[in-house]
Amino acid sequence: MIPSAVMARSRRAVAALLRAISRTPEAAQLVTPPDPLADGRLAFEAMAKKARAVGIDRPLLWLSFDCDTDADAEAAERIDPWLRARGIRASYAVPGVQLEVAAGAYSRLAAVGAEFLNHGYQPHAEWREDRYHPITFYDQMSADEVLADVRRAHEAVLRVTGRAPLGFRAPHFGSFQAPQQLALLHGEAHRLGYSWCSTTVPEFGLQHGPVVRCGDMYEFPLSGSLRTPGLILDSWCHLEDRANYKLAPSYAELMKETVDFMVDNGVPGLLSYYADPAHVESQPPFFEAMEHLAARGVCNVNPGKILSDLRPGAAARTAAG
Ligand SMILES: [Zn+2]
Repeated sequence: MIPSAVMARSRRAVAALLRAISRTPEAAQLVTPPDPLADGRLAFEAMAKKARAVGIDRPLLWLSFDCDTDADAEAAERIDPWLRARGIRASYAVPGVQLEVAAGAYSRLAAVGAEFLNHGYQPHAEWREDRYHPITFYDQMSADEVLADVRRAHEAVLRVTGRAPLGFRAPHFGSFQAPQQLALLHGEAHRLGYSWCSTTVPEFGLQHGPVVRCGDMYEFPLSGSLRTPGLILDSWCHLEDRANYKLAPSYAELMKETVDFMVDNGVPGLLSYYADPAHVESQPPFFEAMEHLAARGVCNVNPGKILSDLRPGAAARTAAG
């Protein structure tokens, strides 16, 4: 038989122990679920400071289309007028081979003012079995092969659209991010007379800001969302059916959540998003997202416009390498 005084002491000791445990951060996490947007808010606020430093004082959108398959040309021609009617002028990143296959469609888009990037020459996708598979990775090519692909693409854009491309984005650029790889591309882009590239992942933007001076070149990193700032918000990641192209509602939800946070809290920045026209054509989440951006007053820009508005004397942050 345990004496009652011992029992009381034990009970008090256990109660004290439980009180102590309940005050630990681990216990707090058990009762309060972590805020899934907390990191994103901090990341977007940190980027906003870098955006203000280059004269970006409100949320802006730069939409570009990645046109890696033959299906993208027709889809682009159908989507472009809808976007233009809402003040959104998309830029086009089309491999040289695809430009030549669908020269009619792309020259018509160029004739109504669409801007084209140099996106390499060789094809970026091939049809196998039941869907497209990515091909042509610069990290699997020699430096000379990469440079030859970039130069050949420059000529293709000039031939098909009648104008030289203004900027460059590598095929499957996420696999070509090492400082020496970016320096190779930036150097060639400079030799071709470009003033900007957009060939870096969101992590680069989180580190350096939305407009980054890299030697002779300005770099415009792609963007993530408020929920996952380091993950590109593109159409491929949100296809819930990659054989028959069905865009998931999450595409619109993440974009709307991001834009609402920026507009509601006065957080400036550049949302640099890209999509594949064939993925988003006739897909409600894409049009819902674009309507929402327009309704929230997010202005559409392109790198040339941002560079021409660059605050005098305000040097864009320089990335080492
Ligand atoms: Zn591509």
